Amino acid sequence: MQAVPSEFLDIDRKARANKPFFDLDLRPPEVRTCDFDDVVINFDPERAMLEAARCIHCPDPAPCMVACPTSNDIPSAMWLIEQGKFVEAANIYHQTSSLPEICGRVCPHEALCQGSCVLNKHHQPVLTGQLETFAVDHERRTAGYVIPLGTPTGKRVAVIGAGPAGLGCADLLVQKGYEVTIFESKPAPGGLLVYGIPNFKLPKDVWIEKWEEFERAGVKFVPNTYIGKDKTIDGLFAEGFEAVFIGVGSEIDAKMEDAPGTDLPGVYEATDFLIRGNVEKNLLPENMKEPLKVGNRVVVIGGGDTASDCLRTALRLGSEEVTCLYRRTEKEMPGGKKDRKMAREEGAKYRFLTQPVKFIAGEDGQLAAVECIEMRLGEPDAKGRRRPVPLEGSNFSIACDTAILALGYWPDPILGKTTPDLEVHDWGLISVRNKATGATSRQGVFSGGDCVTGPDLVVTAMVGGRNAALAIDEYLRNKK
Ligand SMILES: Cc1cc2nc3c(=O)[nH]c(=O)nc-3n(C[C@H](O)[C@H](O)[C@H](O)COP(=O)(O)OP(=O)(O)OC[C@H]3O[C@@H](n4cnc5c(N)ncnc54)[C@H](O)[C@@H]3O)c2cc1C
Repeated sequence: MQAVPSEFLDIDRKARANKPFFDLDLRPPEVRTCDFDDVVINFDPERAMLEAARCIHCPDPAPCMVACPTSNDIPSAMWLIEQGKFVEAANIYHQTSSLPEICGRVCPHEALCQGSCVLNKHHQPVLTGQLETFAVDHERRTAGYVIPLGTPTGKRVAVIGAGPAGLGCADLLVQKGYEVTIFESKPAPGGLLVYGIPNFKLPKDVWIEKWEEFERAGVKFVPNTYIGKDKTIDGLFAEGFEAVFIGVGSEIDAKMEDAPGTDLPGVYEATDFLIRGNVEKNLLPENMKEPLKVGNRVVVIGGGDTASDCLRTALRLGSEEVTCLYRRTEKEMPGGKKDRKMAREEGAKYRFLTQPVKFIAGEDGQLAAVECIEMRLGEPDAKGRRRPVPLEGSNFSIACDTAILALGYWPDPILGKTTPDLEVHDWGLISVRNKATGATSRQGVFSGGDCVTGPDLVVTAMVGGRNAALAIDEYLRNKK
């Protein structure tokens, strides 16, 4: 429900809809590709107030709020921002989100809140994502934010994985008075927020300040600990944890099984490439500390957001010819249009209906070319997407020194194998008995995020973690 119901607002909807629209300010492509800094220029207070005043305050429930996976009360936040009450607006976001300054930056707003804005019919939508970023950044710079702690229950909960799902869960658990310890396989917390999403979309200092909130709230962090190898879930119960949340994501790169040569020097998996290209050396896992060797001619294979991130990272690392190869057409591409537009502005090229079939070495043993075959679109598959069909005899080569495979992700099956009675499906995704609570087949074990849904979004993973925290609270309050 909206905190500021629209019927109490004295507004002229038509006049608001007709107010001038100014799009996001982005740093020019030739400037932004010289560094890894944020591409978007944040609003100043005046600009934020003007933009928020374009909201026409639809009757409750507003479509933007319905489209937001975490049900942020966007109309009330818009109303407060319009009046310069930025800290109050930030508080609206904290009520429903554990990561508002991050969702404000990385959510595909054009498909969620902004996409559902009724102004889309005849005007431009309100830039609700950027306003969320503005309000929460402003609060951080002025008042600061402290996670409100609940009365201590004396009970301990273990969270496995420090990505958006684990963080969403930890946030609500400390608010309910639980002692939370996060076990994480990597050296630093954040999951894909640190070890995936590039700095030019999500600056690392935003994340570092966010994590400090969790530390101040007493969340304990145990790095470099792979549950399933270094410890087991049964072992965590034996250590005295009364419930366990699994938020381990879905981070194993999909392989290109049928194309020979993927083991050549110069061929990278997207995760390895993005982590080594974007993350400071002191945060890198030991096996990723060797510097990347990126050539001038780069091909990126895949059509999702990860492919866009790889293209844009390669351009920032100085590569001159950067081309995305995708086996269907642009219409079928799963990645967001906004990221693709920015990649194009920055110099990335796209080659559609193209499938690599072989990676070819030069005399020095390094990658020198990729052999491809042209495709056409055939009949739709089970999901309704038209299948790519090879055009026999259409093989051709593209010279390149670096190839990056951005083909999607699978879960690591290790927890299913090392946890008795924990049901998994589809190569290791955790089965949940109840989607709303994340309860698994094991009593006291809950799960959420990409390890349940498969690769999805920061916001949906965070919601999975938050929902599980509420269920864990109920489970522990009722436990004899
Ligand atoms: C390159 C890339 C770009 C993306 N860009 C966007 C974007 O712009 N916007 C958006 O909304 N989404 C984006 N996503 C998707 C988004 O990052 C994920 O959906 C989200 O991070 C999932 O959160 P999670 O907590 O479920 O998993 P993760 O973020 O993957 O976190 C899981 C954590 O668990 C740890 N872990 C794994 N196994 C174990 C274990 N056995 N023991 C201990 N720890 C373990 C991992 O190291 C990791 O830190 C992107 C994804 C990628 C790969």
